[in-house]
Amino acid sequence: MDQSAKQPTNTPANQALINLSGVSKNFRTADGSERVVLEGVDFTLKEGEIVALLGKSGSGKSTLLRIMAGLLPADKGQVIYRGQQLFGPARGIAMVFQSFALFPWLTVQQNVELGLEAQGIPKEIRAEQAEAAIEMIGLAGFEGALPRELSGGMKQRVGIARALVMKPDVLLMDEAFSALDVLTGETLRNDMLELWESKKTPMKGILIVSHNIEEAVMMADRILIFSSDPGRVRAEIKVSLPRDRSEDSPEVRALIDEVY
Ligand code: ADP
Ligand code: MG
Repeated sequence: MDQSAKQPTNTPANQALINLSGVSKNFRTADGSERVVLEGVDFTLKEGEIVALLGKSGSGKSTLLRIMAGLLPADKGQVIYRGQQLFGPARGIAMVFQSFALFPWLTVQQNVELGLEAQGIPKEIRAEQAEAAIEMIGLAGFEGALPRELSGGMKQRVGIARALVMKPDVLLMDEAFSALDVLTGETLRNDMLELWESKKTPMKGILIVSHNIEEAVMMADRILIFSSDPGRVRAEIKVSLPRDRSEDSPEVRALIDEVY
């Protein structure tokens, strides 16, 4: 048997980028009781893959991403990033938000530079790196614009540039295309895939959180379903390569039945 055929071409090392084991999180509700949001989540994002995490609203997807980004501590379990336990934000992990989360009073360029500024990178280098990230995501010429002057798709491009400028090896995308109209979302997803495949960035893995099955099928090598009550990764399907963009396959049908 041809052993090389078993190895997906874009996962040469199959190394774990981020590994979660037994991650649990409770939130205290207004009446003072505890609500289990995540319970015993085990998950590994490996080098070379795009994984989609699908789940209903309120199932704990954003909470899980925030834990993976080091923005929120887990109550139990651990997150291992490149072999080390994560206790806070790590330089190699960047996040893109559904609501763009741009500072409205700052220009495109200033929004993209913020993270570099926080790292104490000198102004000229910041400017250069921000311009490169802005160009990479197709916003060259809009460096001086304010967010309110941009369409939704362009705002999210700024959100992506702000993540890319940090040169992350892990990109976490939380419903990043959900606030966009269908066509804009599709264009941006295609551009992201092109960027991923171009290897122009140091990105080694992308986790896409979504409630949109079509999006997951289009972008992911692997799709995980997130159940609610309490959130844990419940099932997995592998999207065959080259990407199977159809919703007609039996695997995808089963997935739709599982989530909805
Ligand atoms: P999803 O992203 O899948 O829609 P979330 O992770 O945002 O789900 O939220 C999961 C659950 O946790 C929801 O019931 C939400 O109300 C609750 N929740 C999220 N963040 C907090 C918080 N900071 N305090 C209390 N409850 C929260
Ligand atoms: Mg969410």
